[in-house]
Amino acid sequence: MFESLSKGFESAALRLRNQGKFTLENLKEPLDSIQRTLLDADVHLDVIRKFTQDVQEKSLGAKVLLKAQGKSVTLSDHFIKICHDALIEILTASKTTDHFLKGLTQKSNSPHIIFFVGLQGAGKTTHVGKLAFLLKTKNLKVGLIAADTQRPAAKEQLKLLGEQVKAPVFTTESSDAYSIVKEGISHFSDQDVILVDTAGRLTVDSVLMNELVTLNQKFSPENILLVMDGMIGQDSLTTALAFQEKLPLTGTILTKLDGDTRGGAALSLSYMTQLPIFFIGTGEKLNLLETFRAEGMASRILGMGDVLSLMDDFEKAIDSKTEKNLENIQKGHFTFSDYENMMQTLFKMGPLQGLLSKMPFKLPQLPAGIDEKTLKKKVHMIQSMTKYEKNHPDSFKGPQALSRMQRIAKGSGNPLNAVQDLIQEFFKMKQMLPLMSGMSAMGGGMPGMKPPSSEQEKPALFGASVKLEELKKMASMGKAMKGSLSASQIAEVNRELKRKKQEKAKKRK
Ligand code: GDP
Repeated sequence: MFESLSKGFESAALRLRNQGKFTLENLKEPLDSIQRTLLDADVHLDVIRKFTQDVQEKSLGAKVLLKAQGKSVTLSDHFIKICHDALIEILTASKTTDHFLKGLTQKSNSPHIIFFVGLQGAGKTTHVGKLAFLLKTKNLKVGLIAADTQRPAAKEQLKLLGEQVKAPVFTTESSDAYSIVKEGISHFSDQDVILVDTAGRLTVDSVLMNELVTLNQKFSPENILLVMDGMIGQDSLTTALAFQEKLPLTGTILTKLDGDTRGGAALSLSYMTQLPIFFIGTGEKLNLLETFRAEGMASRILGMGDVLSLMDDFEKAIDSKTEKNLENIQKGHFTFSDYENMMQTLFKMGPLQGLLSKMPFKLPQLPAGIDEKTLKKKVHMIQSMTKYEKNHPDSFKGPQALSRMQRIAKGSGNPLNAVQDLIQEFFKMKQMLPLMSGMSAMGGGMPGMKPPSSEQEKPALFGASVKLEELKKMASMGKAMKGSLSASQIAEVNRELKRKKQEKAKKRK
């Protein structure tokens, strides 16, 4: 995500590497270079102007301490920190996703009605499904109304999504959006939240707008969310402004940020519409909906990862089986079942490339052997083991080891040496576990990766015994490595950990 933006910021900052303090002269080149980067990313000119002015003012006014607490800070680091703050300012809206979600839990004015609007293909139907999925995990009763009368497949698509998330879907044979929504709302009067999938068009046109304006006037939904395709750059802003002119939008969902996005849309949308971005879509699957946080987005734009979002992914993927598995690993009882579970948890967390962009350190590509295909092969080999073999790894050390391996190779359709490699790698990992527990959150527990030999070495992705508290360590290690994880980022991790702890304690009561 946002690779070219990150690279642009980095190379701009590097131009200040050997400078002692900010001056108008030495800021000129980096700021010009950032302007070009933002232009390439399709960021609106007004946003670019505001951003570069901000960064220039903040830099010239900054007191730069090149040595703080015994550590040296380069002017480049300081510049990145200033860019980070300026990006946060642009991306911060008056209402956060937490406010939005909290509003939906207020029983007094339920059912809360939410309209999804946007162009055809932006991802409305998909994101009705994703939001329903999220709301169901919060124990809310959610009803879906299929009022996209333009796209013939939308109704069936929504029915399917409804089945997957176990939310009722209201459909009729009518092609009149007004009567569908009217009947749907009375049908769902006992629900907490009603999500309405409205029709899009290929471009903004008056027929579409008139339909939406009428629906809004008749039903006054509490929220109208604009769903925007994050890959379409400048055009997305023109579209957003056209919708905003006619409808009292309350927020946006930016979709397809998993794709080849240049990242400009988020900045332009936030600043030019002043609408909060509540969520970002990072894939087609139902669980690939992320809460938008200005801080996290700013960090990702700068290539600094997003620890909090990583934490969310982990929490979503973890179940009691995984918890047990982590406990086992911490105790040193590491089996092939644990190893398999670790890899399955990883798959549940979403596409590996997406996880990579959230790491607080730079790893531009997945290391060799850490790709979905290779990991799936390993899972297949483990699945070809007997239950006994899975739980007694030492069975691969005895006299029958070779025949066992030959059977697994045949059963999983892999060459014998692939099975031998897997088993060797497993025992190496098992040996390393006690060593890893000291730095477990990011330690070498990542399937197939060698653990780091020292803190300076680049760490493996994440590991065997991840505990939420340990993400703190992860954040500060990230800082040590990258030198630029901001204090505000760490403070936010700490705040989030505290909040989660309190939430857990409350649940226990
Ligand atoms: P609608 O016409 O606005 O309802 O759009 P759809 O929900 O049908 O989505 C259009 C296409 O985009 C479908 O193929 C979706 O699977 C895909 N899509 C939606 N959201 C995302 C996303 O966040 N990432 C990716 N990669 N694809 C998405």
